[in-house]
Amino acid sequence: MVRHFQGATALFDSEQKLFTTRLAKYARRKGLNCQIGAILGNTTGDGELAAKLSACGRYLAFNQYLASGQIKLACGNFCNLHMLCPCCAAARSRRLLARWLPLVFNPGNQNKVKHYLCTLSWPPPAKSLAMAAEPGDDLRVNLAVGQIAWRKLWKRRTNRLSGPLADVLGAILATEVTRGPSGNWHPHFHVLVTMPENKRISASDLRQEWSKLTGGRQLRLDPLRLPSDVVEVFKYVVKPADLGKGGKLDSAGVMTRFEIWQALKGARLVRGFGCYYGVQDEDLTQPEDVQETAAYIELVFKWMDKTYSLVSTRGTWDSRSPGTGSAA
Ligand SMILES: [Zn+2]
Repeated sequence: MVRHFQGATALFDSEQKLFTTRLAKYARRKGLNCQIGAILGNTTGDGELAAKLSACGRYLAFNQYLASGQIKLACGNFCNLHMLCPCCAAARSRRLLARWLPLVFNPGNQNKVKHYLCTLSWPPPAKSLAMAAEPGDDLRVNLAVGQIAWRKLWKRRTNRLSGPLADVLGAILATEVTRGPSGNWHPHFHVLVTMPENKRISASDLRQEWSKLTGGRQLRLDPLRLPSDVVEVFKYVVKPADLGKGGKLDSAGVMTRFEIWQALKGARLVRGFGCYYGVQDEDLTQPEDVQETAAYIELVFKWMDKTYSLVSTRGTWDSRSPGTGSAA
């Protein structure tokens, strides 16, 4: 049964406040998305790409559930270009957290575990070896150095149960890319490491091993702070501040993002190992999980250049959901 409401008057106050804040965030990201699309269109001449970005988030549909008052994003036309688009970067981060966080708290039914956050970086390969035959080749080669080193490190743990990761139960590796002032790429890994509570990981052994494999550079290993460090691991491939100097969007920052996207599009930038192996990471910009059988009001917003405006509401409910049919 479907009925039409006069307006969204059934919104609960507290949820309404949260939602207003949230919608303002969507609007801020959509504003950036429009500016990035315009800069890319002008700079690269790729009208198709600019149009795809500009169409992202033009309409957003939310479900407000009558029983709980919760408001969930149910539908949106996303571009899925998370390395370019702030709207999709935030959606990807949210989905990654929803997918991985429950596993971090319960990896393979191990009750007594502890976690570390490890940051691994490495020096770039010699210029003569980084043959920039195609756009993005230098970043791809640089990243491959780290990926190969990590695989070797993990293989030692898997094959011989030796090395600094011997006691590790599992690891989640997320890639982040920054660019130094000299223009050099600086890809690095944030690795969430999980191990039994009664075992320890030696930072000096890990540093020594990583140094042998990559030629050194920094390594940080700290006990994981929940949930802030986990959020940091999954947040972005490219930090929002890297869009321009001082956090202000400029064309150089946008072109940096464009180069990163050219180099890494299609790459798996978050991977699970050990007890986290096999977790799928597709569809990361899909809307939130919605309850298809619960009664809700559908709220459709349209982007109006500077803000989102409510353009349509519609009430639906299912007779199987008790106590929800009277909210009209
Ligand atoms: Zn997008």
